[in-house]
Amino acid sequence: MKNKKIIIAIDGLSGCGKSSTAKLLAKEMNYKYLDSGAMYRAATLYIIENSIDYKNLKKLKNILDEIRLEFIKENTSDSYQIFLNNKNVEKKIRSKKVSELVSEISKISIIRKKLVKMQRTIGDNKGIVMEGRDIATVVFPDAELKIFMQADINVRAKRRLKEFEKIGKKISLKEVKLNLLERDNKDSSRKDSPLKITSDSLILDTTSISLKDQIEFIKKEAKKIIN
Ligand code: C5P
Repeated sequence: MKNKKIIIAIDGLSGCGKSSTAKLLAKEMNYKYLDSGAMYRAATLYIIENSIDYKNLKKLKNILDEIRLEFIKENTSDSYQIFLNNKNVEKKIRSKKVSELVSEISKISIIRKKLVKMQRTIGDNKGIVMEGRDIATVVFPDAELKIFMQADINVRAKRRLKEFEKIGKKISLKEVKLNLLERDNKDSSRKDSPLKITSDSLILDTTSISLKDQIEFIKKEAKKIIN
């Protein structure tokens, strides 16, 4: 898979394993990886930490330039971590507080406009796996390969709970499930860039297939386009 570089767009519901799949896929294909959700989470963190009244769009517009995001590879990890104004916030953006507010913040068009612009710049040279909610519909509607991931809600909630446990966060399965359902609902019903399956997307249901099989499925589809 060395010659033709493509864009692989992976969209889908919250907690269906997009990040694990996209990250590993990018590694195996020697592609860049972009977690667009991390950008919405970092913008949300900034709003929380600075007590910004995000409903006041005029004020919000003025502070948008204060949000500087970068993805940097740290020596201690082999994956890129998100930096908000020079601080590594990879862990902080996964907190319950951020998870509860992020879908409200990502509804706001001026926020989306800023982040979509950054995402397009990062993916411009292709050779990238980008995951999110609107990658196939808005960010890269011409992406060569579009995958829509979904999974049973109970499986998703259990997987997300494990992630919280890994970072030492105490939260119940019920709370996790509620948050996922709430975000699915908000992300799918918002006016600007709702989560939607495009007619040219391939559906990947991860309820009962392994990570390895998910990667194999996508790689096989990618090969058909690249070769
Ligand atoms: O992917 P993750 O679950 O971390 O995304 C967090 C939130 O960011 C989503 O629930 C959604 O509200 C927002 N998001 C978005 N568009 C994207 C990626 C994420 O609106 N492309």
